Amino acid sequence: MLKHSDEELPPSWEEERDRIIGLGERSFRKSYYPELRSNLTRLERFRTLLDFSGEMILLVALPAGTIIDANAAAAEMIGYRLDELFDKPLTALGLDDSERLLATLNADATSGETPLRHCETRLHRHNDGVVPLDLAHRVVVVEGTHFGVLLGRDASVRIASEKQLRLAARIIQNSGEGIIITDTDCHIIEVNKAFEAITGYDRDEVLGRNPSLLSSGRQNKEFYRAMWQTLNEEGAWRGEIWNRRKDNEVYPELLTLSTIRDDAGTLTHYVATFSDITEAKTREARIQHMAHHDFLTGLPNRFLLTDRFRQVAAAAQRNESRFALLFIDLDRFKNVNDTLGHSIGDQLLRDVAARLTAMVRGTDTISRQGGDEFLVLLGEIETPEAVAQVARKLIQVLSEPFLLDGHQITVTPSIGIAVSPEDGSNLDALLKHADLAMYDAKLQGRNNYQFFRREMNARSLELLLMESDLRQALRKCEFELHYQPLIAVSEGRPIGLEALLRWRHPERGLVSPVDFIPMAEETGLILPIGQWVLNTACQQLALWRANGWPSLRMSVNLSAAQFRRQDLIEQVRTALATARLPADALELEVTESILMIDAEGTENMLNALSAMGVTLAIDDFGTGYSSLAYLKRFSVNTLKVDRSFVHGIGIDNEDAAICMAVIGLARTLHLNVVAEGVETQAQYDWLADAGCHIIQGFLMGRPAPADQCLTAYATT
Ligand code: C2E
Ligand code: MG
Ligand code: MG
Repeated sequence: MLKHSDEELPPSWEEERDRIIGLGERSFRKSYYPELRSNLTRLERFRTLLDFSGEMILLVALPAGTIIDANAAAAEMIGYRLDELFDKPLTALGLDDSERLLATLNADATSGETPLRHCETRLHRHNDGVVPLDLAHRVVVVEGTHFGVLLGRDASVRIASEKQLRLAARIIQNSGEGIIITDTDCHIIEVNKAFEAITGYDRDEVLGRNPSLLSSGRQNKEFYRAMWQTLNEEGAWRGEIWNRRKDNEVYPELLTLSTIRDDAGTLTHYVATFSDITEAKTREARIQHMAHHDFLTGLPNRFLLTDRFRQVAAAAQRNESRFALLFIDLDRFKNVNDTLGHSIGDQLLRDVAARLTAMVRGTDTISRQGGDEFLVLLGEIETPEAVAQVARKLIQVLSEPFLLDGHQITVTPSIGIAVSPEDGSNLDALLKHADLAMYDAKLQGRNNYQFFRREMNARSLELLLMESDLRQALRKCEFELHYQPLIAVSEGRPIGLEALLRWRHPERGLVSPVDFIPMAEETGLILPIGQWVLNTACQQLALWRANGWPSLRMSVNLSAAQFRRQDLIEQVRTALATARLPADALELEVTESILMIDAEGTENMLNALSAMGVTLAIDDFGTGYSSLAYLKRFSVNTLKVDRSFVHGIGIDNEDAAICMAVIGLARTLHLNVVAEGVETQAQYDWLADAGCHIIQGFLMGRPAPADQCLTAYATT
């Protein structure tokens, strides 16, 4: 058994120790301190080396497993003095798994295999906690005797830094941002999962490659040059760039580039972190668009219009030119909404928007005011006629029927025009004036345009007053009906009467329906008013029928709003029943334009009415755009030639020709024909000659209260 005394160690052991511990003679021999070497014995030199080693070194006798030598670091680490360590069993040092360790050493000794083995273990220090240990051990044979050599190193720092590294790696891997790490030559050495998700490339595909494989080509050389310059000078660059995914899709990303330097300041890596900002970009664009456009039609909204207005106004001022604002309101849009539902109404507005957009110049702005109101801002206009031309074109374009969900719908616009600088220079003033002019267009019978005129300002006040008056008129029973006879040419006597509405206004006297019906329609008041007309006219007719006019009939005018309501049928039925009248005593008059709004709905309503036995007349025939096909299709009984054509008889050949044509048409289709507005005997004779059987007009009797209108024809 070898003692631990240095002096007694044979030279061969020295050599073996030299070889194993690796602090060998060879390296020492090469050292630059030959004088130091010469003053120490070889053993002293080794002792010094061993004790200066920071690693624990233990020499263990085998198979017993007692410590026969150790260095200072071992004593320090284990927590005993050096001399206390000697002869202690290896298994008593506080090493985890020391039994197994000893068994391994002995097994190696027995087998003769002496590999250098490594393991991780823990050392329970004498009275001082636990340290993790990296342990290397090996069996050495000295002159046939086996020893175990153990080298141990405190692993806390390694483990901590590995943990740190693992944490960092995990953070990189799980970061929501894509990360690329390259070496200084820009070869990719690591990417994370987000990189794979965003770019579509697998890690293996890109390792070793240059990140330029993502380049979209959208940034030019100059861009990249500036980027690299900032990166190298400031250590970081941040910005938005376009890159290309593996599937070729180009996408925007927010990119941060950084340089990584070691403690000495030498560049070691580049790191790129980026996020896909496609969604943010689209959202931003959508928000921008939403803030400036009407949700329904996609047209610029008031906000954007204001902006464009400023530009147009500024340009006009510079060039001393004019510009115009057109206020468009769709006539009877409410009917469409009420009868066909809001989704068709919405679709109609979108289609209107599309037609308007297709029509104007790129420099003009169309905007939706809300509801069925649109604005057109025309920059740089030469003459009022040029604006009028645009207005006419708009009317034409919008008057073409719309086909929506199987319904053919016709809407017409009323357009008001205000021109700057005459009618105002700021948006508010122009808007107000265009609005007034639009209102005027409505009162002028719709489907037309009007330029703003100064007197409209005064009139607008009047209109406002009228609207509130109208609301009260029903309650105060200010309406009355006048009746105008329809004369059969063959008999020279009335066969019917047309009920014509009048408003006996407390201050203004008798107001014509032309002056308040458009307003009543706009406000919806036409519905209760219309119902009142229907009931009153039926009751009056029942009175006449009971008093000497048994076969007299009554014509009642219907407005679009009434015609669109399903309950019209019920109203008519009730009015007839209350007055105890047969259905064929009543003729309902509707204008051509009403029929054209929605051909299908019209057909259904006309059929339902005619099934009931009520007859139908098309009023003001010739002024609208009736198609002959409709006439055949609809259950219509009577055409009323518009009085403007009758007025032209004897004056205007074209008017006379139209009268003739309508009469001929009625005959062909087996319809009754009534000529209205007959004022002269000459007109009467001409019409009678032409084959018109029923005549209505001042010549035969003006509209008059019930007690006066039949007196001229009274039977005695
Ligand atoms: P309309 O149905 O075409 O009625 C005929 C209009 O021509 C009446 O005007 C009548 O007074 C007028 N007239 C009759 N004979 C002559 C003539 O010889 N010469 C001239 N110049 N005019 C003549 P009014 O009463 O002012 O009614 C205008 C329009 O108002 C009517 O045109 C009708 O569309 C509407 N209206 C009248 N009453 C009602 C009603 O109760 N409900 C609805 N919805 N509309 C009505
Ligand atoms: Mg009429
Ligand atoms: Mg008429």
